[in-house]
Amino acid sequence: MALAELEPLNVDDEYRLLIGGDWVAPEAGTYEIVDPNTTQVIGHAPEASTSQVADAAAAAKAALPGWRDTPMAERCALLGRAADLIDERIGGLTGLLQGETGATINITEAVQLPACGDRFRQYEIPVDLDESMAPYPVEANPLGPGGLAGAHVIRQPVGVVACITSYNFPLVNVSGKVAPALAMGNTVVIKPAPQDPLAMIKVVEIIEEAGFPPGVVNIITGSGAAAGAALVGSPDVNMVSFTGSSAVGVKIMRAGAATMKRLLMELGGKGACVLTDDCNVDAAIGAIASVWGLHSGQICTAPTRVIVHRSRYDEVVDKLTAVAGMLKVGDALDRETIVGPVITELHRSRVEHFIASGVADGATLQCGGERPDLPGYFVAPTLLADCEPDMRVVTEEIFGPVVAVMPHDGDDHAVELANDSHYGLFSYVFADSPARAFEIGQRIESGNVGINSLAPHVHAPFGGFKMSGVGRDRGIFGLHAYSELQALSWVSS
Ligand code: NAD
Repeated sequence: MALAELEPLNVDDEYRLLIGGDWVAPEAGTYEIVDPNTTQVIGHAPEASTSQVADAAAAAKAALPGWRDTPMAERCALLGRAADLIDERIGGLTGLLQGETGATINITEAVQLPACGDRFRQYEIPVDLDESMAPYPVEANPLGPGGLAGAHVIRQPVGVVACITSYNFPLVNVSGKVAPALAMGNTVVIKPAPQDPLAMIKVVEIIEEAGFPPGVVNIITGSGAAAGAALVGSPDVNMVSFTGSSAVGVKIMRAGAATMKRLLMELGGKGACVLTDDCNVDAAIGAIASVWGLHSGQICTAPTRVIVHRSRYDEVVDKLTAVAGMLKVGDALDRETIVGPVITELHRSRVEHFIASGVADGATLQCGGERPDLPGYFVAPTLLADCEPDMRVVTEEIFGPVVAVMPHDGDDHAVELANDSHYGLFSYVFADSPARAFEIGQRIESGNVGINSLAPHVHAPFGGFKMSGVGRDRGIFGLHAYSELQALSWVSS
């Protein structure tokens, strides 16, 4: 799409909440949505009241029996229909989504938009998840006569799922939850991130047109933590599927304990990227560079801790420094731009504080660190070399275009450094021999490990070890995540 074709945004457009099949005005007013690229207000999002959050959960609960009893083939057919409608119409949301996320136009078009329909498409084919256990003989006992014991194991929906998501990929994060949850027969209440909920509201309008019964899909929005917290506290909600920071994940776990919420937690990351002495350094640098500035580093799976063999350390630092200069920072609408803004002024300050802390702790600032002279919330690609494992720039997730480099003295030491983290989402190994990379990768405490590549497998289980989360989704694992196992057992004589 040419930029000139982007639909003009109207700041006065009215956005509503979907509760029980009705599009309703927010009871607590609206709040401003700011374009991180220009700092201009581009729209006003609905501020749901606490009672509207409760209404949405109650509506989802009321819709549950009918939806749960709808055959999976029919549920999946509606997901396919939703995917068709999304694919047809999503292009019309390009300007809105780009404006509220601040993502570059390239990232908006290539990553943010197409993945939305794809996530629905993945679940348009019903899957038989039932299993029968092999029978075994049992002797008569006080519980019953002897015979052959059998069991049929089926997957039931969990119930009402609150889908609470982060700001970085608003449509992808939500659709990756909603599609498998609906396929399994759950009903959902969507609570997108406060910073960029507008395009998601429009996607829900599209999804609704596919023909989901009232109350199966609901969406509420709000400017702060209150709407999400009210959902987590609601006795009508059975499961919280959360994508966001580990700090908020901890709060949700605590608050959800009282009502025994089932949890899928997709949390923060601090990806280790191990480079062995014999690796193809240029391939590794190319891979790191491809994600360094992507969406301004606001990517949970980014390789932000580069752990390189001491014999290649100077070469890698020099090449990373050189490549940083090629990552053009600029207007998000310019097709040459690689690094656009981060989401808010507050987040930019947070990233800048981290960089300053790294320098204060003794890291070498190879490049970046300065604030680009642009109107939006920009951070230049930043490389911190000579880092130590206990520096905050190494231990904490920065969620900006900042890479920290450390030397290692061999595979065991590399694994030790990689595992010296409370995160474990996505790590990477680059080695000449894939067998060696596999050997190292299996020793890294991380839900996913990329072998000589940063590309994830779309059907592989996705999720984190340690503080990076609980549970797995994607593909068949997504259906497992949104279900309860039930065993129907018998003894036949
Ligand atoms: P965040 O934790 O600040 O917010 C995420 C969501 O939680 C928002 O919708 C927010 O309104 C809501 N929330 C805040 N307080 C709440 C509470 N007390 N109860 C219920 N909900 C509450 O995260 P963010 O800044 O939007 O996103 C960045 C984080 O998300 C990073 O840590 C990043 O690594 C993580 N992330 C993880 C994945 C993954 O798949 N593992 C994917 C994308 C982003």
